[in-house]
Amino acid sequence: MKLDVDALRYLSKEDFRVLTAVEMGMRNHEIVPAELVERIAGLKHGGTYKVLRNLLKHKLVHHDSSKYDGYRLTYLGYDFLAIKALVNRGVFSSVGRQIGVGKESDIFEVATEDGTILAMKLHRLGRVSFRAVKSKRDYLLHRRSYNWLYLSRLAALKEFAFMKALGEHEFPVPRAVDCNRHCVVMSLVQGYPLVQVKQLQNPDEVFERIIGLVVRLAEHGLIHCDFNEFNIMIDEEEKVTMIDFPQMVSVSHRNAQMYFDRDTDCIFKFFSKRFHLSFHYDKDGCDDSGSDLEEDGRPSFWSIEKSTGFLDKELAASGFTRKDQDEIDKFIEGDVRETVSSDDEECTNDNRADNDDANAIVNILPCLQLVEKEASLDGENGDNTDEHPDISVTKEP
Ligand code: ADP
Ligand code: MG
Repeated sequence: MKLDVDALRYLSKEDFRVLTAVEMGMRNHEIVPAELVERIAGLKHGGTYKVLRNLLKHKLVHHDSSKYDGYRLTYLGYDFLAIKALVNRGVFSSVGRQIGVGKESDIFEVATEDGTILAMKLHRLGRVSFRAVKSKRDYLLHRRSYNWLYLSRLAALKEFAFMKALGEHEFPVPRAVDCNRHCVVMSLVQGYPLVQVKQLQNPDEVFERIIGLVVRLAEHGLIHCDFNEFNIMIDEEEKVTMIDFPQMVSVSHRNAQMYFDRDTDCIFKFFSKRFHLSFHYDKDGCDDSGSDLEEDGRPSFWSIEKSTGFLDKELAASGFTRKDQDEIDKFIEGDVRETVSSDDEECTNDNRADNDDANAIVNILPCLQLVEKEASLDGENGDNTDEHPDISVTKEP
């Protein structure tokens, strides 16, 4: 999706006030009645309706009059709220070019005040192939109210919490910088996704390091669940960084072994096809760490000494609660299950093997399109939580 940050420059304080009012209304309404938006925003002289027309023109809200006159945020509107909050918080000051298109995300470069380049991932749940939609709809039917924005926010929070916890345990992951709504800011990883790498100096070593990661994750009680050539980055020194964590599960999950085997299978298949590595059963059936190996040389899930509880302790610190986890897991599980049954051949949960655009994007020097802080903030204070202290349903501002 195109993120036209230019529009940010032209949005006034009133525009953001009404946009925020629509967001607040969406906590209880899929489509927020226009009168409710007006009540929440509290602009004088019917100003809200004029602003709504402007927001509609910029595609920040969607108008729906099928049942009543109402509005909902679009992803672009949600993007702007998150970007503005993060800019207010001083996390970055400008948005640059798009560097990645995931199956359910868009990734952009952003720059801090001192010129450091970071990566911003905007989650976009709901953008998946149609075959995955049915299982989600079954789940979503049972919710009192839902929206994709809410699920994208949970996915971002989960990703941020896992990235932070894994980084603290010295896993090679991007540094988790901050998170707001459906947006995660992290360090920019140098190098390329493994899928773009045609040659390696030491394919055996890289392979060992990558498989070692799956095993170490399991020792920490975790399974990546989307561990493949799209979600592993390699730099010039052949250093490995893993990315993309919203679908991770605990080793105590009832399908844990299947997910673990699928992760290792992806790596085995990819290295055998791309780098012609061959795998054979070691005589003693053990690897260097003493873990048992399956007959085809894969690590055996059951022989790994797995610790649990890593999830609960560390993730709670980032504000990712058990309830959040249950919510997002129910949703993502539908996705994973569906993919396993129909995508066996490809072995990957990423649907991008045939998407040249996605694979062609690499990180080189950024050419930033500056969004000036003053122009976009319009004097709002630095508050950026999901609370909006300057907006109240009953009071005039
Ligand atoms: P999705 O969940 O949609 O698959 P990913 O997190 O895998 O999204 O990101 C998609 C692509 O964006 C990656 O394959 C990679 O090319 C790029 N990317 C993601 N995070 C970073 C980062 N921190 N630094 C550099 N590139 C990144
Ligand atoms: Mg990915």
